[in-house]
Amino acid sequence: MKRAIFPGSFDPFTRGHLSIVMRALALFDQVVIAIGQNTDKTPMVAVEQRIKTLEQLFQNEEKISVTQYSGLTMDFCKTQNAQYIIRGLRNAQDFNYEQPIAQNNLQLGAIETVFLSAEPHLSHLSSTIARDIAKYGGDLKSFLPDSTQ
Ligand code: ADP
Repeated sequence: MKRAIFPGSFDPFTRGHLSIVMRALALFDQVVIAIGQNTDKTPMVAVEQRIKTLEQLFQNEEKISVTQYSGLTMDFCKTQNAQYIIRGLRNAQDFNYEQPIAQNNLQLGAIETVFLSAEPHLSHLSSTIARDIAKYGGDLKSFLPDSTQ
């Protein structure tokens, strides 16, 4: 059984994240969307609400589960019996940030990271920009999956 963790803040979960999840389903038997706790930042959407939204979004997908975690992602993978981490890459900046983390997770935790390139029409989407737009009352329609708007 190939089980993968898709870790992230998902604050909010965007169409870019959705694309990665749906494509990961073709590669893995189980995908765990894992919301990492970032105590330094005040979230736009409370973690409980993010979980609820994602559980609703994927209610008909038996292969997907949603949870939160804290601590090292590689330790969380062990508790879930997951051998893989999925991350999305939008650009070289993402890659430069992700590569050493993936290398450490491989060396210290024997966890493989599988990178999926962003779909070209979604690579401009980021939760950080979504939060900025929301802060000033802008329209997030093009950022959010249809059923989470
Ligand atoms: P984190 O704070 O861990 O980077 P995010 O919620 O911002 O969490 O992102 C989670 C993952 O989704 C990361 O691997 C990120 O690169 C990827 N991601 C974010 N936006 C997109 C997008 N538009 N297309 C593809 N992958 C994306």
